[in-house]
Amino acid sequence: MRIHVMGSSGTFPVAGRPASGYLVEQGSTRVWLDAGPGTFVNLPVDSYMVDALVISHQHPDHCCDLLTAFHAWTYCPEPRREVPLFAPQPVWDRVSGFLDGGQESRLAETFAFQPVWTGDRVDIGDISVSFTEMDHSVPTVGTRWEADNRTLFYTGDTGPQGEWLEAARDVDVMLSEAAYQERGEDDYPYHLMASEAGRIAREVGAKRLILTHIPPYLDMSRSVEQAETSFDRPVSLAMPGVTFDV
Ligand SMILES: [Zn+2]
Repeated sequence: MRIHVMGSSGTFPVAGRPASGYLVEQGSTRVWLDAGPGTFVNLPVDSYMVDALVISHQHPDHCCDLLTAFHAWTYCPEPRREVPLFAPQPVWDRVSGFLDGGQESRLAETFAFQPVWTGDRVDIGDISVSFTEMDHSVPTVGTRWEADNRTLFYTGDTGPQGEWLEAARDVDVMLSEAAYQERGEDDYPYHLMASEAGRIAREVGAKRLILTHIPPYLDMSRSVEQAETSFDRPVSLAMPGVTFDV
């Protein structure tokens, strides 16, 4: 299994670093995971080669490019039909709500939407994906990816609370958000500090940690240092254009 990073910027994109988006690949199966703004143009393959999409939650920095894909696949000479889309129900409701004048029905032709929530598991080609509720302010799923005896856990956006840690147990790779370097008592509680990402990766027995969702205004090397202090192993950084073997 491999992860291609299309975007990793936290909260909003900047030139050269779109917001969250990855392509998970196993054999001939390719799944687009989170569609943050800027990720569509960074797909490492033609978008017609994407077999399915998985979206963690409805926040714009994780799903805006669903609209870009919709336009690309609907208004091209050879439209795509019923591309599988797995996400919490509000993702579909929000994206549908953005459209009018008949576009809503075209959306349901372009995508075959299947709502997912904690405890669900789906098979997409050669990959099995299971979903877990995360510690975020809107319904958000973390995803555990399994293929060929290798495992990946992606946090989406999350705080450190909740029952989700078990879903990341003993993974080969943990792809974790690290939106903060420090968090005050009055700060939004539903993101991780890099040191928490490292601590959690160690606690669940992850073999490797990759940090993502670091906002453009933070020094990323400092986030890596903080995570390495609590993980006790080298930590990688998700950057556009980089591919990781799981
Ligand atoms: Zn979010």
